[in-house]
Amino acid sequence: MHDVTAENERIVDLVLDYSRRRMLSDDTPLDKPETQAELNRLAGRTIHEGGIGAERALSIFEHVLAPACITTDHPQYLSFIPTAPTKAATAFDLVVSASALYGGSWLEGSGAVHAENEVLTWLAGEFGLPAGAGGVFVQGGTLGNLSSLVAAREAARVRLTLADEDHPARWKVVCSAEAHSSVASAARVMDIEIVKVQPDDDGTLRGDAVRGALDEHGASVFAVVATGGSTNFGIVDDIASIAALKQEYDFWLHVDGAYGLAAMLSPLARHRFAGVEQADSVIVDPHKWLFAPFDACALIYRDPETGRRAHTQHAEYLDTLTETADWSPSDYAAHLTRRARGLPFWFSLASYGAGAYRDAVTASIELAARIADEIRSREGFALVRDPQLGVVVFERVGWSKADYDRWSARLLDEQRAFVVPSSHAGRPNTRFAILNPRTTFDDLVAILDGME
Ligand SMILES: *Cc1c(COP(=O)(O)O)cnc(C)c1O
Repeated sequence: MHDVTAENERIVDLVLDYSRRRMLSDDTPLDKPETQAELNRLAGRTIHEGGIGAERALSIFEHVLAPACITTDHPQYLSFIPTAPTKAATAFDLVVSASALYGGSWLEGSGAVHAENEVLTWLAGEFGLPAGAGGVFVQGGTLGNLSSLVAAREAARVRLTLADEDHPARWKVVCSAEAHSSVASAARVMDIEIVKVQPDDDGTLRGDAVRGALDEHGASVFAVVATGGSTNFGIVDDIASIAALKQEYDFWLHVDGAYGLAAMLSPLARHRFAGVEQADSVIVDPHKWLFAPFDACALIYRDPETGRRAHTQHAEYLDTLTETADWSPSDYAAHLTRRARGLPFWFSLASYGAGAYRDAVTASIELAARIADEIRSREGFALVRDPQLGVVVFERVGWSKADYDRWSARLLDEQRAFVVPSSHAGRPNTRFAILNPRTTFDDLVAILDGME
């Protein structure tokens, strides 16, 4: 007879064994994308009525599919914003799945929700938000920004309705021209207008520029988004001068700190974020600079009730959940079913302690400053802007876009590093996004040496 228990044990052992090897390996190659045709050829057809068996499926994953995925936690992965989950966080991600936890409601997942909330409360405290601030871990910064802005518009609607005032024909959100593309994406989804304000030459959006937009667009502006560490440059807007405008204008201040807000953990950068304590909502992605696996964005409201009012889904089958005062994470963003995706971060933070996080973030900032000095002092190189956090943008003087393209493709092809071309104000450049604690100064210097 077919022994189901034995087969399940074999499959679980197989997968855990692979996971264990991958998690503990420190020499997983960088890897690179493969063509569709080549993947078809190598993997063959894998879905059949009878199944190909776990051994064969895992073998195809290990030898064909995984090598066609760039190793995002590789120390020479310096593009976009990398990821560098701790071993504790990655390992615990398995536990979240193994336990079939449901993270949407207090009724079903109170233990998991309690731990996630402890992390959110801790983060809120680091950002200087008042006691009572809270929210939810959502899939990513894009959904975090959207959910925040939906809550912001709902608050504005309620305010105007209570004051018996007309609602604007078109709602508007103000942000920097260097704000992340997800703000524009949220505006499209919400069918609202986005007012992009030019930041100063150093990339910083300041209160006086925002004031101009508020004067011009009046009460149709329901929210201002300040960026706490732009993705391209790691530049932090002057949040305090923007927040000060709240005394004169009615708007919701949202701080998009998906990448950079983690830097508040470091004494080297904390001062740059002054004013964040006045935000109505903030986001930070643990899958970026808080060393958690994909995917997790911490969305925190100053007054969580505003989030709940905007997002709670009502349905007959959900009444038993929504008619209580229990804290159900589903109620705080545009989602319902949810994985307890804050738990890997919780486990790691609880295990290693906050101090380890402060040290790791500080080390990235120091390394970025050090390689920026190196670039500044090198003939033929030009720093585009002084780094504030862990992103260093620079030009190889005289290089065209085609030169960067060729160089970048060769780096990946030779499996030396993943550094993609970028551009600013129409000029091609490249950037190091540094957050992996295993990235060294010598690694970066070797890349510069190769730019002939
Ligand atoms: C990465 C990023 C986002 C988007 O976050 P995702 O998790 O990729 O959806 C938004 N804002 C900023 C500033 C970011 O760096």
